[in-house]
Amino acid sequence: MKYHNEIQRRRTFAIISHPDAGKTTLTEKFLLFGGAIQIAGAVKSNKIKKHATSDFMEIERQRGISVATSVMSFEYNDILINLLDTPGHKDFAEDTYRTLTAVDSVILVVDSVNGVEDQTRRLMEVCRMRDTPVIVFINKMDRDGKNRFDLLEEIEKELKISLHPMTWPINSGKDFKGVYNLHDHNLRLFTANTKAVDEDDVTAIEDINDSLLEKKIGEADAAILREDIELVDGVNGPLDVEYYLAGQVAPVFFGSAINNFGVKEMLDTFIEIAPTPRSRETTSRLLDVEEEKLSGFIFKIHANLDPKHRDRIAFLRVCSGKFQRNKYFHHVRLDKDVRFSNPYSFMARDKSIIEDAYAGDVVGLFDTGNFKIGDTLTEGENFYFTGIPSFSPEIFKEVVNKDPLKTKQLEKGLLQLTDEGVAQLFTQFGGNKKIIGCVGELQFEVIQYRLLHEYGASVTFNSMPFYKACWLTSKDPKKLLEFTRFKQANIAEDKDGHVVYLAQSEWFLNTEITNNPDITFHFTSEIH
Ligand code: GDP
Repeated sequence: MKYHNEIQRRRTFAIISHPDAGKTTLTEKFLLFGGAIQIAGAVKSNKIKKHATSDFMEIERQRGISVATSVMSFEYNDILINLLDTPGHKDFAEDTYRTLTAVDSVILVVDSVNGVEDQTRRLMEVCRMRDTPVIVFINKMDRDGKNRFDLLEEIEKELKISLHPMTWPINSGKDFKGVYNLHDHNLRLFTANTKAVDEDDVTAIEDINDSLLEKKIGEADAAILREDIELVDGVNGPLDVEYYLAGQVAPVFFGSAINNFGVKEMLDTFIEIAPTPRSRETTSRLLDVEEEKLSGFIFKIHANLDPKHRDRIAFLRVCSGKFQRNKYFHHVRLDKDVRFSNPYSFMARDKSIIEDAYAGDVVGLFDTGNFKIGDTLTEGENFYFTGIPSFSPEIFKEVVNKDPLKTKQLEKGLLQLTDEGVAQLFTQFGGNKKIIGCVGELQFEVIQYRLLHEYGASVTFNSMPFYKACWLTSKDPKKLLEFTRFKQANIAEDKDGHVVYLAQSEWFLNTEITNNPDITFHFTSEIH
């Protein structure tokens, strides 16, 4: 229990949303409350506006930076909050999914006008895989949004999670008057406010039948609110935090991030109920978060886009024990002891060298090519953390080497870029074709650009007619071998030597699944 107090003090989470719902705006308000920034507008959106590589490169360069904004640590009411950033662009969704393996909870932002959108759905699927606790923030209440009941029903149905409203809105759009806090029994009147300070106009109204309500919001709205609350309270009762922690119920707040309305209210609840770093499953045993020996895993690798500096930054999520600068730790995959003289932390948005870190923290490690996603550091024991998923890519292209003299560089580049998790690499059986699979077109442009600029390798791509990769396993090795022989043109090996079936279409895939009951088709593969 040596590090008990340090662990209890930490909350590590991510804000997730469909692009444009308000993630950047909300992040900024959190940082203002945490004193990590002083002025609004300091957090730059990481959005890619145009569909162009140059745009991506430019953003990455400006962010240089995205290393610094990858993790934002700040203190609020003596709680140390580690907020992990996730790219909003769908072509980088896989990066986001992996980041979600490194957090203990999430805040999901939903746009009250658009409701549940594509990315919201996919992100929640990943959260559900890990039973990650979720708090929902329904944003943009200052705009004419969907009916509050319809919206909640839509979220519950589409995201397959029960909701528990913590606050209740009074109208929306230009008639938005504020929210009633069902938990603290107070009325928070809406004022457009973009400043850092919390200037909400709050009145305690213990009894919802108090005539003070009429004075504050008028007769008609008071009547509607009372009716609404009767309905909602009747269904809900107080929030059961255990259900929230088990990922079964999501508390919901209504607000407007840009107006800093309802944000502090949520942050206060967040630090009260959000989980502290938890124990985690590994390939050999359950790892208790209170164990004194260090353990942690790499969930993200960030390349330095300056070709003169090929170094990268590997992000380590500490899961137990104490990380220390210059101390030797065991790199499980390489079976080698390594130490770090310049580990980064991310307090107050500046990279700064740290001496130590505890469970829940994220440490940036300089890397010259020793790490890949999913790698573990320990103090001697050999295990990996489970549940770090690899999803099926959606676009497949064969790599065509345009400069045979640079074959070695190309191979090195492909290996390193795929170690970073930029794309997945498959080698087709028989033909030895190298196939790259990505979630979005933009990644191919990034890979082409980086292979040329960082490795001097010139490539083009040939589209392949596949739409999904499935990892194959079978209790009967003979059956699997037979299948791979028979379907050679569709069989490949991933980087770790696992057998993969590349399907041309949903119809083909379903046919193979039906015709081969002895073979299991997996839609995700766990790195470990
Ligand atoms: P992200 O893509 O999820 O990071 O979204 P941003 O935080 O960049 O917000 C997208 C747009 O919505 C920006 O133009 C914001 O100014 C705007 N926005 C954010 N919060 C609110 C809000 O509460 N009300 C209104 N009307 N607009 C908002």
